[in-house]
Amino acid sequence: MWRRWVFFLVLCTGIGSAMAASLDQLRVGKAGSGTRLVFDLSDTVQHKVFTLAGPDRLVIDLSQTRLRASLPKVADSNPLIKNVRSGTRKGHDLRVVVDLKTAVRPRSFFLKADASYDYPRLVVDIHDRNVADAAQVPVIKKAAEDIKQRNIVIAIDAGHGGNDPGARGGRGTQEKYVVLDVARRLKTIIDGESGMEAVLTRDGDYYLGLRERMAKAREAKADLFISIHADAFRDSRVRGSSVYTLSERGASSEAARWLAEHENGKELGGVSLEDKDKTLASVLMDLSQSATTEASMDVANQVLRSLKKVGKTHKPTVQQAGFVVLKSPDIPSILVETAFISNPSEESRLRTPKHQQKMAEAIFRGVRGHFRKSPPPGTRWAMRTHVIENGDTLSHLATRYHISVAEIRDINGLTSDRIRTGQKIRIPGS
Ligand SMILES: [Zn+2]
Repeated sequence: MWRRWVFFLVLCTGIGSAMAASLDQLRVGKAGSGTRLVFDLSDTVQHKVFTLAGPDRLVIDLSQTRLRASLPKVADSNPLIKNVRSGTRKGHDLRVVVDLKTAVRPRSFFLKADASYDYPRLVVDIHDRNVADAAQVPVIKKAAEDIKQRNIVIAIDAGHGGNDPGARGGRGTQEKYVVLDVARRLKTIIDGESGMEAVLTRDGDYYLGLRERMAKAREAKADLFISIHADAFRDSRVRGSSVYTLSERGASSEAARWLAEHENGKELGGVSLEDKDKTLASVLMDLSQSATTEASMDVANQVLRSLKKVGKTHKPTVQQAGFVVLKSPDIPSILVETAFISNPSEESRLRTPKHQQKMAEAIFRGVRGHFRKSPPPGTRWAMRTHVIENGDTLSHLATRYHISVAEIRDINGLTSDRIRTGQKIRIPGS
């Protein structure tokens, strides 16, 4: 896999002439414990020096430069370099690729023409990345302390509560109780997952306005808002779980419209969604909504897929409806109707801890699937993958990626320091 490493140096050196410069000679020599490459140039040039992995390469791009020399053969005994080759880019830029024996840390600087040399030179020093890292242990330790990745936060919203009981089943089951049970179970599962945590918008039988629910999610800096319901329909034969996302354009089915009206309750009539400036509000909504809509749809699809595996779903696809509770443009949001409480058999099942747990687990798997695929930046799940090669050790990885061995163990659920070739290790992104 081609991966651009941390080092991406862009150095502009002087104004440079519009005329093409030339690389007249490339010299390879020793520089302390490393290797020094000296590019003898006819003129100052703009250049970039960066490394690539898999296989390890060092790339030096020289703009408006042509090669006027043959590249040197590198001795087999050189500890870092296998070979040097070149190519032309965009018809006028020169790319020099240094095939490496190991990952390196490059450092480059430009020397102007001086008394000793009447032409400018680009100097690139490279050191074995692992050796270089080991020599900088105190610095790295500090860097590791600085990296504080946060957990992915899920706001779980148990619908209704207090004097708003929600839907009621034929046996008298109240939606507000069963959804709180499912919400609490979901929170327990999420809190047990490394790198994730959950907050409940309500954790008791009390009334909470729809806006307050969103405000709580925002306060918790939630990455996802899940509203949990168990609803009723006028036709008691209707059954199955459904997953909804917000629709700005209107409900995608009659049932969705009906549920939206029902869930929104009094607040739909009482609160104007377009407070003052209708145009401004919709522009802002559009801007922030487009990114979260995509995320909402992905979570919704994954949760629905997961729910399909444990029971019947009401509709084969994610439904869209204008739920006020989902109107949080900055937080991806979904609404899960775990079941229809108006359906006698679903009502009975909803009362059982076993079924509540099953629902919570299914929702969790969908959520986890989404975040594994698209972890929010800055979270512990925003990872890259390191495939273990011969000779890799955890402490080697810790040094290389500037994190602690304990952290690698924790993130990857490792109980010992033993790793095997080919094993995929998750590394937090920087
Ligand atoms: Zn409800």
